[in-house]
Amino acid sequence: MTIKKTEKLTTNQKSIANNVSKHTTAINWRDHKWQLEHSIKDIATFEKLTEIKFTNKERIDINKTINKFPLSITPYYASLIAADNYQNDPIFRQSFPNPAELKVQRCEMSDPLHEDKDSPIKGITHRYPDRVLFLVSNRCSMYCRHCTRKRKVGDPDHIPSKKQILNGINYIRNNHQIRDVLLSGGDPLMLPDEYLDWILTELWKIPHIEIIRIGSRIPVVLPYRITDKLVEMLKKHQPIWFNTHFNHPRELTRSAREALRKLADAGIPLGNQSVLLAGVNDCPRIMKRLNQKLVQNRVRPYYLFQCDLSQGLSHFRTPIGKGIEIIESLVGHTTGFAVPTYVIDAPGGGGKIPVMPNYIISWSTNKVILRNYEGIITTYQEPDSYETIFCERNCDECVLQLKLDEADETKAIGIEGLFTDSEEQISLVPKNNSRFNRRAKKLNK
Ligand SMILES: *Cc1c(COP(=O)(O)O)cnc(C)c1O
Repeated sequence: MTIKKTEKLTTNQKSIANNVSKHTTAINWRDHKWQLEHSIKDIATFEKLTEIKFTNKERIDINKTINKFPLSITPYYASLIAADNYQNDPIFRQSFPNPAELKVQRCEMSDPLHEDKDSPIKGITHRYPDRVLFLVSNRCSMYCRHCTRKRKVGDPDHIPSKKQILNGINYIRNNHQIRDVLLSGGDPLMLPDEYLDWILTELWKIPHIEIIRIGSRIPVVLPYRITDKLVEMLKKHQPIWFNTHFNHPRELTRSAREALRKLADAGIPLGNQSVLLAGVNDCPRIMKRLNQKLVQNRVRPYYLFQCDLSQGLSHFRTPIGKGIEIIESLVGHTTGFAVPTYVIDAPGGGGKIPVMPNYIISWSTNKVILRNYEGIITTYQEPDSYETIFCERNCDECVLQLKLDEADETKAIGIEGLFTDSEEQISLVPKNNSRFNRRAKKLNK
């Protein structure tokens, strides 16, 4: 083993590196290409590298799971598993197949968020008015067991061709309301630097694009991919916002923190999207520690996701109450921007719906009764003389001195529409509401 003491790989890292080959160096270990070449894709390799052993019965069940949902773990991520209690290990649970993945429940779907249905062309999901999700890579350095896009993992049919990417860029070019493009996948950082550089260059040629976002788990599972060269390239394409996916404080290792430091030093704003996972992070104390550590590393917690209704995730799901309990334990108790927004991504494609503990206890015409995180109940006296301005969305005539030359949406949609004075609508009625159907029948008579 040629790793020098001074190069400071952890004991686990040294052991795995040595089990890959006696000739592994620390330089190899920190080379993302070496990591990918030695990714663990079967049980035998996992056993050899981690020295964790399974029984024959376990191997049979794990293999059945792998046949449906493939396995891939970087040696780096595997080195974070504490072998002595691996069954309860949060890293093991996120990366190693669990036969429970094969138990499909009736409520589960392969595409619960209707990402494919809300897709005008392959690779683009256009759900919200002003932004799109753009799947530019179907590859990942690690297959997260809780992946919401499990249906696409390892499927060669889903590898986006250059033509598909060009079609996506054209779609964005032709739809002027799109101002925000979210590159996702798979993991966009699995693309070569030059290719990603090309995509970003093409996107920035579109005049209506205001921001580009990258969603990537690479800082967590393959931090060595965040090279100086990559960061230099990304820096040319500002403003880029970068969202990553830490789920447990143990993932914030020295290597991961170094990757975050490089990105933050390049002036790239960092955010984090966690998923609430049973047996991994469904604990207020773990989540508080995670979010505090993120903030310490200049990462702003963005979303905490309720686990989706994707097939194979039932063993990861918690009641919504667990998420609310976690948010309750954060708001007021720690730094305001260490609190993510807890969201449920609506099955059927309704998008992300924020969920919060209730802070408004009651309300009258001039008083709101609120409670704080300590349980103190307080009143807010509302103004006696607030003059409501009648709004017809005619900003040129409005007394408020806002020049909204570029205001895009002239029509208020959804709940916002119910608030506006310029719309006649007083209610939103679901399609096929039986009471409204009866009314229609009566009218037709
Ligand atoms: C999450 C998501 C976005 C981005 O939503 P934000 O709330 O702006 O972060 C956009 N499109 C799709 C399809 C999404 O799932």
